[in-house]
Amino acid sequence: MSTHRHVDNSELKQILLSIIGNVPVGIIALNFNGKIILMNEQAAGILEVNKKLQTCIDLPLTDLLFKESKFYATINKCITEGMSIFNLENEGFKEKILTVKGRPFINGIIITIEDVTQSFEFKQLEFKNKELEEFSYITSHDLQEPLNSIISFASLLEDRKTNLDSVGQKSIDVIVSSAYRMKEFIKVLLEFSRIGQRQEKNEVKIIQLIEDLKTDLHNLIETKKATVEYIGKPITINVFEPDFIKLLQNLVVNGIKYTDSETKPKIIIDVKELPELFEFSIQDNGIGIAEEYYDKIFGVFERLHTRDKISGTGIGLSHCKKVVELHGGEIWLTSEVGKGTTFYFTVPK
Ligand code: ADP
Repeated sequence: MSTHRHVDNSELKQILLSIIGNVPVGIIALNFNGKIILMNEQAAGILEVNKKLQTCIDLPLTDLLFKESKFYATINKCITEGMSIFNLENEGFKEKILTVKGRPFINGIIITIEDVTQSFEFKQLEFKNKELEEFSYITSHDLQEPLNSIISFASLLEDRKTNLDSVGQKSIDVIVSSAYRMKEFIKVLLEFSRIGQRQEKNEVKIIQLIEDLKTDLHNLIETKKATVEYIGKPITINVFEPDFIKLLQNLVVNGIKYTDSETKPKIIIDVKELPELFEFSIQDNGIGIAEEYYDKIFGVFERLHTRDKISGTGIGLSHCKKVVELHGGEIWLTSEVGKGTTFYFTVPK
């Protein structure tokens, strides 16, 4: 028994019209004179035609096209030189990016139009980000070498500093300290550009991770008489481990660092388990951050303190943001000046 039954012409026409009306693609049929035989709403929308659809029938398509576009030129060519296959990929049309294809049929040509602006822009952004990452990796990598030469020659001079007058001696000191500072910048930039590269996610036990973190930060914790406590459940999470460690480390170090000298830093790390994600919080009893700076501090090299007061490069929180976003989460904070700050971030399960 056949599963198909005979479809008569009027039924076929209904089916075709319904398909044409519903596909996410603009469709236009032109006769050999370039006049519109059929056009769907999608095509009218993409081309920003502000007439009723029925009134477009029999109009030359070129009347509706933006004259500066390659689409216009191609249709003109089809009319004067004959209808043949054409493909226009990612062509600019007013504010849009279109992919337009033409396929001849017995009475003229069928044109399909897709608005690819969004996916095109997304691809471009992805490409630009990759390019930027590579650029910062290469520059920071290559900058290290001449800088190392500066440092070693300046150190040689430093050993002979007694032969110089006071201006000369001061200059050597500035060269050496600036060069070391630049080395630190390059190191963090290099780390920043490498986030998420060449890594696989793995299961990490949070209790163990925090114990290791405390061991790594032993000196800082001792000197500042700080306490770091985890009060959450002993969860296991699937993360890019080295990046995740750095994320927690940056937030804990900041919590300890940005405390006034009379206060013993008290850092409390907690995690809340929600159906779709884990929400971490890192709370400190430090100097706090005024609300107007909440966004600014996540920018690369943005700092609220001069480096003679508290040392730093200003990249720590941008690093944190990049790592959190790499995991598909979000980062934010609440703070009270003089009382303390809590940074929150989420990691989807
Ligand atoms: P860095 O610590 O190297 O300056 P970050 O990107 O980690 O860079 O932080 C940017 C700025 O945000 C810091 O200079 C500081 O002013 C502020 N900040 C960060 N964490 C805290 C915190 N826990 N308490 C108060 N201020 C903070």
